[in-house]
Amino acid sequence: MKVTDHLAQANGKTLFSFEVLPPRKGENIQTLFSNIEPLLEFKPPFIDVTYHREEYVYRQRAAGLLEKITTRKRPGTVGICAAIKNRFDVDTVPHLICGGFSREETENALIDLHFLGIDNVLALRGDPIKSEPGFVAHPNGHAYACELIGQVSAMNGGRYLDEEQVDSAATSFCIGTAGYPEKHFEAPNLNTDMRYLKQKIDCGADYIVTQMFFDNQKFFGFVDKCRQAGITAPIIPGLKPLTSKKQLTMLPRTFYLNLPEELVEAVAQCRDDADAREVGIEWCIQQSRELMAAGVPCLHYYSMGKSEAVRRVAAELF
Ligand code: FAD
Repeated sequence: MKVTDHLAQANGKTLFSFEVLPPRKGENIQTLFSNIEPLLEFKPPFIDVTYHREEYVYRQRAAGLLEKITTRKRPGTVGICAAIKNRFDVDTVPHLICGGFSREETENALIDLHFLGIDNVLALRGDPIKSEPGFVAHPNGHAYACELIGQVSAMNGGRYLDEEQVDSAATSFCIGTAGYPEKHFEAPNLNTDMRYLKQKIDCGADYIVTQMFFDNQKFFGFVDKCRQAGITAPIIPGLKPLTSKKQLTMLPRTFYLNLPEELVEAVAQCRDDADAREVGIEWCIQQSRELMAAGVPCLHYYSMGKSEAVRRVAAELF
């Protein structure tokens, strides 16, 4: 079932959804299942599975030879989505990125997803990989998420890359897109970013899920701006409980967000990570309560590979 249909059928009740990461290459999928199991009591209508593009480094070998080494491997997004759906009877949302893919490869991945009965995709550009100076599109791929959204929309209309229109083979994906309450890091300002977000909706995106944020005012301001820009699609806030002292620097560096002074002070005063985690969980509970009171359709939690902190937050709210 489509994410937008789940939201429509919720009748004003706030839904709880989660994002999980594929296991590292060589790890057992059972670890992922064990992470998901404690979250099922919150009846998630859908679970997102991230996509991780492989990173490469070149290592010098003898006689001037360079050896290409893959450093980050979390393959399997499509298969994992099918496995979660079959095992837990929960809809899944595979993340699909532009980076590293030709249009043909994207089309083939979408055909696989369609045959596997997966009704949703979150269409993203993807971040630059470390070995590139900035985001570099595949020569026969997409440079921006709006182009990927356009491709999925075309397939929903029965239009494949090399074929005449084939209505009988049309897919019907519900398409999610990313929004940034504190703007995307490459955007010169929030207004420009907002124009491109509107373009993604106009290209066929059905709903928005946001980057994590720790200050609800940023989210409320973002929603107001979206509505002023004529975006009527549902907007799902993305949340993550802070779980260690080092995340005070890691989260802003990785996700280009600001942490509120009050949270920073409280975490800085903690003796250790266990204390910091309690502060982070409580902060996320309060954020979630305020968002629920404001009538958000769904709270989407980033587990980042560990579900216990997220489970504790949801347990206070469900
Ligand atoms: P875009 O919408 O293409 O925007 C990228 C930048 O270009 C922005 O600055 C935007 O303002 C600008 N822009 C957009 N359209 C145009 C245009 N037509 N012309 C000029 N400029 C334009 N990354 C992964 O690799 N895997 C994941 O699983 C993943 N999951 C994510 C889930 C969520 C909810 C979010 C918020 C992000 C996720 N990301 C993931 C990170 C995401 O891929 C990066 O933030 C990436 O840098 C931007 O992706 P986007 O889809 O927002 O890109």
